Amino acid sequence: MLNIALFGPPGAGKGTQSEFLINKYNLFYISTGDLLRKEIADKTRLGTEAQSIIAQGGLVSDEIIVQIIEKTITDNPDANGFLFDGFPRTYIQAYILEGLMLKLNTSLNCLISLAVPEEVSVERLLNRGKSSGRSDDNEKVIRNRLKEYNEKTLPVLQFYRDKGIYHEVNGIETIEKVNHSITRIINQELSKSLFNIVLFGYPGSGRGSQGKALAKKFGLEYVATGAMLEEEIASNSETGKRIRDLYENGQLVPDEIVVQLIEKKLASSKEVKGFIFKGFPRTLVQSYILDGLLKKYGSAISKIIEIEVPTLELISRLDARSKTAACMPYDSSTAKIVKRLQEHETKTVPVIEKYNQLHGVIKIDGRGSFDEVFDRISEAMESGIKNMR
Ligand code: AMP
Repeated sequence: MLNIALFGPPGAGKGTQSEFLINKYNLFYISTGDLLRKEIADKTRLGTEAQSIIAQGGLVSDEIIVQIIEKTITDNPDANGFLFDGFPRTYIQAYILEGLMLKLNTSLNCLISLAVPEEVSVERLLNRGKSSGRSDDNEKVIRNRLKEYNEKTLPVLQFYRDKGIYHEVNGIETIEKVNHSITRIINQELSKSLFNIVLFGYPGSGRGSQGKALAKKFGLEYVATGAMLEEEIASNSETGKRIRDLYENGQLVPDEIVVQLIEKKLASSKEVKGFIFKGFPRTLVQSYILDGLLKKYGSAISKIIEIEVPTLELISRLDARSKTAACMPYDSSTAKIVKRLQEHETKTVPVIEKYNQLHGVIKIDGRGSFDEVFDRISEAMESGIKNMR
């Protein structure tokens, strides 16, 4: 997700710049001012409460703001990212935003402040007042809005300076120049963020071969926990020996070991654009682990993809594979194949359902040739990458 807050006094050009940014980066636009005006037009309880405060140029209470903004955000969990205009406007609202982002397992990437001297704001707003139809675009109310801005909103900047995500742009330049400066900041931010894919599918759906090929095409690091465990055994490390013992006794590898291996992989992958996870997370516990691990690196899951193949075809594919040189020890017999399919059904399907509710899972038809499926997944990934960069 790409989440941006546009900051600045009334008349700084936040609305104008927003129009361009939401299209360029495919963001969901949230203007608390617009939301409040809609509440007023709809004559809702919140609208009635806010109306007289807005008319005087004061700030509406944080309680009202949290209600309208929470609803808008939770109604759109699948958004590619949010662009906030006119929010946060108080120190309390900065904390509210932190909480809301946390709820979506994401964070604010940057706050961009459009710096404009007070007299320029007044002049622009008076001009806008001639055509905006907004009753708060008159001099008396404008002065009060600026007073509120200086007293309550400007201190919010320190919150973001402390977090290291504050950027300032000179807002008296031309629209195009301001545009250009904002784009540069956002692109710089995007180049820092990782593109992380979780690839799901039943055994035999082609996750492994597709995952490897997709990682190569998109320059991502392929993270397959099964293969990582094998590598660890082959390296004969202390952990490798422990894993072998567990395998030989038919026991599952505990999450502690898997976490360590993934953590090592994330820490050693310095210059990567992102990761493709295959075979992890397999359980609900592991899904929390992945969220936590990525969060530790200031990142999160970008897209979740599930390759769907009908059960009968899965069985026939796994059976065919069991008769070739590519046969894995775990699909050497029908009983083992069925056991793996069942494991996926009972442990991993709930994880996919959880993700589907939280972020939405992109379902890809896994029937047809390798290239056909590859093209389908690539297309789904490309739209994500384009939206991120
Ligand atoms: P705007 O359209 O952003 O200029 O907002 C118009 C008016 O709505 C402001 O002058 C405030 O009265 C109210 N308002 C908008 N956003 C907020 C907010 N985040 N907190 C408090 N009041 C707000």
